[in-house]
Amino acid sequence: MTKRSILLHPDPRLKATCDPVATFDKDLRVLADDMLETMYDAPGIGLAAPQVGVMHQMLVMDCVKDDMATPEPMVLINPRVIETSEERSIYDEGCLSIPEIYAEVERPARVKVEWLDLDGKTIQEEFDGLWATCVQHEIDHLNGKLFIDYLKPLKRQMITRKMQKLKREIARGL
Ligand SMILES: [Zn+2]
Repeated sequence: MTKRSILLHPDPRLKATCDPVATFDKDLRVLADDMLETMYDAPGIGLAAPQVGVMHQMLVMDCVKDDMATPEPMVLINPRVIETSEERSIYDEGCLSIPEIYAEVERPARVKVEWLDLDGKTIQEEFDGLWATCVQHEIDHLNGKLFIDYLKPLKRQMITRKMQKLKREIARGL
C-alpha cells in the first residue's frame, strides 16, 4: 500500500466531474488500498478518488471514530444517492482538501445509496448519522462539489483566499 498525496483546494481537478469506473481489475484494488491508507493516515473518515488526482467515481470511508472499535473500511464505486429522507441534519463538516476549515452544512439525515463493490457487484445500503453526512460529502466530490459550495459566497471566497495563501506557503517550503 502506498500513501498518495492529497490535492488541496483550489485545484481544477476538485471541480471536475469524475468518470464512471468500467474496469474492475487489480489496479482498482491497489487504488482502493492506497486511498484507505491515505485516509487513515491523514487522519480522515472519507476520501474521494479526485482528492488524490484520480478522476474515477470511487470513494472510501470509515466513520468508526473510536480507536478501540473494529474499523469498518468501505469502498464505493460509481455510487449514487437513490433516496433521501425529508428529515435534515446539520454537521460541522471538514475536508482533507481544505485542512483546518470547518463549517456547518445541512443535508438529508438519511440516504439510501447504490454502488458497485470491487468485484463489480451492486450493493444498496441506507446510511444515517455521520455515515450519511460523510457519504453525501464524498459523492459530491465525484461531481466536482465541495462542502464550501453550500456556504454563502462571501464565506466561501474567504476560505478560498486562505487556502491560496496556505498553498503559496507550502510551495515556498514554509
Ligand atoms: Zn472532502
